[in-house]
Amino acid sequence: MDAIAILRELKSRGVRFTPQRQAILEFLLETKAHPTAEEIFQHVRAKFPGVSLGTIYNTLNMLKEHGHILELSYGDMSSRFDGNAKNHYHLVCLKCGRVLDYDRPLLALEEEVGRETGFQVMSHRLEFYGLCPDCQEQALN
Ligand SMILES: [Zn+2]
Ligand SMILES: [Zn+2]
Repeated sequence: MDAIAILRELKSRGVRFTPQRQAILEFLLETKAHPTAEEIFQHVRAKFPGVSLGTIYNTLNMLKEHGHILELSYGDMSSRFDGNAKNHYHLVCLKCGRVLDYDRPLLALEEEVGRETGFQVMSHRLEFYGLCPDCQEQALN
């Protein structure tokens, strides 16, 4: 869904949209960087100097509740946010903290798990941890 479709859908559910909230949504839809709330704040503040961190968190929670974004939490590190709400996978660099997408659909695995265990699988989460190509290069130098 693009920003306009999401805005329209939320408006029909009575969610009020300010230009700041719209900027948060648009940034999340265009970036592949999986930013933290702080990074979203810095980005949106460049355009809307009056925006508060509270507005960022409220908007992120609202978008998450309506299923339009994903929150990726990593233990003690701050959460990252993803404008792609479809189930997909992430590669997490243990050195620089970068989070990259891995888009191959593995949903057949859910059916397989269900078949083999009798468990009714509703979702799953899979992450790959390691070193990104940049960090591997640095390690060699
Ligand atoms: Zn890295
Ligand atoms: Zn992602």
